[in-house]
Amino acid sequence: MSDACDAIVVGSGPNGLAAAITLARAGCSVVVYEANATIGGGARSTELTLPGFLHDVCSAVHPLAAASPFFKTLPLQRFGLEWIEPEIPLAHPLDDGSAACLHKNLDFTAEQLDHDSAAYRLLMKPLARNWENLSIEFLQPMLHWPQHPITLAHFGILALCPATLLANSWFRREPARALFAGIAAHSFLPLEAPVSSAFALVLGLAGHAVGWPIPRGGSRQISNALGACLRELGGKIEGNHRIENLRDLPKSRAILLDVSVWEFLRIAGQQLPLRYRRRLESFRHAPGIFKIDYALSEPVPWKAEACRRAGTIHVGGGIDEIAAAEREVARGKIPARPFVLVAQQSLFDETRAPRGQHTLWAYCHVPFNCATDMSHQIESQIERFAPGFRDSILARHTTGAAELARSNPNLAGGDINGGAANLTQLVARPILSPNPYRTPLAGVYLCSASTPPGGGVHGMCGYHAACAALRDHFGKR
Ligand SMILES: Cc1cc2nc3c(=O)[nH]c(=O)nc-3n(C[C@H](O)[C@H](O)[C@H](O)COP(=O)(O)OP(=O)(O)OC[C@H]3O[C@@H](n4cnc5c(N)ncnc54)[C@H](O)[C@@H]3O)c2cc1C
Repeated sequence: MSDACDAIVVGSGPNGLAAAITLARAGCSVVVYEANATIGGGARSTELTLPGFLHDVCSAVHPLAAASPFFKTLPLQRFGLEWIEPEIPLAHPLDDGSAACLHKNLDFTAEQLDHDSAAYRLLMKPLARNWENLSIEFLQPMLHWPQHPITLAHFGILALCPATLLANSWFRREPARALFAGIAAHSFLPLEAPVSSAFALVLGLAGHAVGWPIPRGGSRQISNALGACLRELGGKIEGNHRIENLRDLPKSRAILLDVSVWEFLRIAGQQLPLRYRRRLESFRHAPGIFKIDYALSEPVPWKAEACRRAGTIHVGGGIDEIAAAEREVARGKIPARPFVLVAQQSLFDETRAPRGQHTLWAYCHVPFNCATDMSHQIESQIERFAPGFRDSILARHTTGAAELARSNPNLAGGDINGGAANLTQLVARPILSPNPYRTPLAGVYLCSASTPPGGGVHGMCGYHAACAALRDHFGKR
């Protein structure tokens, strides 16, 4: 272990690295301890199937990273990060062979939605105009004095709605309803649950603001650029170093933990006051995922032409079917026709696969800690909208809850978002406080996706936690 330093960060996910960079930029000496040999946590890439096929192990598509107010302040391009914007950010195939699409251009998206053009504009345009202000408001703890109260109230009223209620009452036809429902399903909530609309609005608005880009060379390029940025500021990273107990760490003024609530309980549980520990123990998991990475001999033969030009595909059919699948998952059941999120990075990034061949990244939602192999269900869903898909499969690599937990302690049970993002846990993440990063242990902060604003590669949890530590222990405002 390194000698004493100003601050220690446990975990080198996007939030851990963001926290370390924030501290190092303020002049602190920082060491990051990472359990894995490679940095990046949920933003890593490697050859999972065949030589020459580069797969994103976790995150693939990055509207939140491209829109992150913190990442925007870093010279990540200088360290090799290059965003690629697929021609169409998102396509959602339907059974009639058509597809509803989210385009970066809001008006064009609306036009394509035909009968729902005006409704789409009415819903999204006023919010899109205020995107910069809005994103600052919701990328921080919910308990704060808003700088833009009217904009936030407008967003909040819509965001609180269950996605099925908002989509079915606002839109008249299936394409717009299905498009909205598919984006809302990123919440991992039943679509009848309050705040499920928030995810559709935020990710849809981000799509209009920055697209749904992918990094050239895989999501590891985000982590590599963050790591290089930290090293340039003098920070150190020690891999292969899993922390089993907080007491094992060397002396420092602040400790920032890029670990889930449950990993925090494991490494510090005995030291935590009972009341706080009980609150953390009652924090709820989100459902899990089952993921497949494919090496393909050719692009996916989507029936809908738009899907062949899109970076992300939402495979799940109409709104009722997606809602039913998410309801099943929330009840602990395996959906026969799951909602499948698909990314086809190699169509836009030639570094991902040998010439003429392709990668495909796909996952579906499953109950927490589910051990069922969902390969058949996922492939049946893709085949439904792309007949002949199975013939193009050269190799596949599956990842269930057990493998996820082995690859990253934060992903135990297959929950990829650091805990459910329901209304209660969006407000109290993991506790109700204007500064939920602080823990009762002096100088110890949580900075993972279990804190606000929650899951996704954006680094904002790490940034806010580090700002709190700088205020508390280093006299920085
Ligand atoms: C399959 C999958 C697909 C996803 N897709 C997307 C996507 O397309 N777009 C998107 O924006 N987000 C996506 N996400 C979510 C995103 O990856 C996470 O929300 C994000 O990585 C959270 O960042 P973090 O820094 O909080 O934690 P993590 O990225 O989980 O990093 C935590 C790090 O801490 C280390 N660690 C944990 N415990 C210890 C310990 N005790 N000692 C030492 N080290 C420890 C871990 O090894 C890990 O490296 C996906 C996640 C998964 C798993």
